[in-house]
Amino acid sequence: MTNVKTAVKVDFFRHDLGERELRSVAQVLAGPILTTGDTVAEFERRFADYLGRRHALGVTSCTGALHLSLLALGIGAGHEVITTPMTFIASATAILEAGAKPVFVDVEPQTANLDASRIEAAITERTRAIVPVHLYGQMCDMRAIREIADRHGLYVIEDAAHCIEGERDGIRPGQLGDASCFSFYATKNLTCGEGGAVVTDNDSLAEKLRLLRLHGMTKTAADRFREGYHHWDMVLLGWKYNMDNIQAALLIPQMDRLEENWRKREALAGLYYEKLSGLPNLSWPRSLPGVRHARHIFTIWIGGGRRDSIVRGLQEAGIGVVVNYRAIHLLTYFRDSYGFQPGDFPVAESIGNATLSLPFYPGIPEEHVNIVAEALKYLLKE
Ligand SMILES: *Cc1c(COP(=O)(O)O)cnc(C)c1O
Repeated sequence: MTNVKTAVKVDFFRHDLGERELRSVAQVLAGPILTTGDTVAEFERRFADYLGRRHALGVTSCTGALHLSLLALGIGAGHEVITTPMTFIASATAILEAGAKPVFVDVEPQTANLDASRIEAAITERTRAIVPVHLYGQMCDMRAIREIADRHGLYVIEDAAHCIEGERDGIRPGQLGDASCFSFYATKNLTCGEGGAVVTDNDSLAEKLRLLRLHGMTKTAADRFREGYHHWDMVLLGWKYNMDNIQAALLIPQMDRLEENWRKREALAGLYYEKLSGLPNLSWPRSLPGVRHARHIFTIWIGGGRRDSIVRGLQEAGIGVVVNYRAIHLLTYFRDSYGFQPGDFPVAESIGNATLSLPFYPGIPEEHVNIVAEALKYLLKE
C-alpha cells in the first residue's frame, strides 16, 4: 500500500464559507436579536422562493425537522411509517422520536433509492406516512410515491437532506410532499454547521410547525422586542428546534452561489466518471433520465467484497473517504429492537457492503481528483 502514499492530504470535504458569511454574521451581532428574528425570516423567504414553495421554517436540524413534521401531522404511538434502510439513521430515529415504528422497504438496485414498487406490500392499517429519502441528491419517484400515499390516505414527508437542487420529471423536492425536510449540517450543500428547515405549501401545517419549533408559545423574543411585552400562551406541547439569526446569517449569502456550486459539483462528478470508467470491480449508482441530480455525495460501488480493503488503502494514501451508508436495519439498535437479520433487505445490504464516498466539494483541486483516481486504479488492480 505504501506505493500509493501521496505527499498531499486529500480532504473529504471543505466548506467554502468566508468573508461574505463573516460580514453577514457581523450584521446580526450588531443588532439586538441573536435568536429567531428577521434574519431567520429572510432566509426562510429565500429558501422557500428557491424551491417554489409557500413556506419554509428554519429549525436546528433535519432530524428535528422530520420529528416536528411527524408530530404536526399527528403521527405517534401505535403508528407505522415507511422508510428506507439505505439512509442516514436520522430518517428512522426521527420516526422513533415521534413514538412511531419505522417500517423499512428495500431499495432499487440501480439508484439505491426507496423502491416505490415495494411500498404497497408494507402498508398496514397502522401505516400513516411514507418518508422517502432522495439519496445522494437523486430524487425518488415522487409521482409514484404520492399516488400510493393518496390511494391509502397517507402523508408523505420527504427527507431531502441531500437534495436542495434536484429535480425529477419536472418535480422538485417539497413539491409533492406534505412536508419536506432539509439539513444544513456541516458537510451539506448549504451549511451553517448545524441547522435544518421544513418546507410546505400547507398554511395550517406551517403555523403548527411554527408553534411546535418553539415550545408551543404564541410569542417569540423578537415579538417582545418589536411590540413590547404582552402575555403569551402555550397552546401545544412543543419542542426547542428554532433556528437562530446567527445560523440564518451564515446561510443567506450561500443562497447566491447555490446554483454556481451545483454546476461545479456536476462538472466534478463528470470528471470522476471519466477518470474512473472501465476499472475492474467498480460501478456507481445510475442517474435516471429526467433527473437533475443535486450532487450531494459522490458514491461508488466496489464489487468482489473488496470495499473495506479499498477504504483502508485510500485512507493509508491520505485520502478522506466515508461510507454512506451501511444498511441501517443491521445496526445494533435496530437488530435488538426489531430482530432484523441479514437478508431482510438484500438490495440495501449489498449496496451497503459495496458503497464508498469519495472527496467531493465545489472547490476541490483537480489534482486531488487525479490523486484519488490514480490511487483507486492502483488498489483495484492489486
Ligand atoms: C444529514 C442527514 C440527516 C440529518 O440531518 P441533521 O441536520 O444532521 O439532523 C437526515 N437524513 C439524511 C439522509 C442525512 O444525510
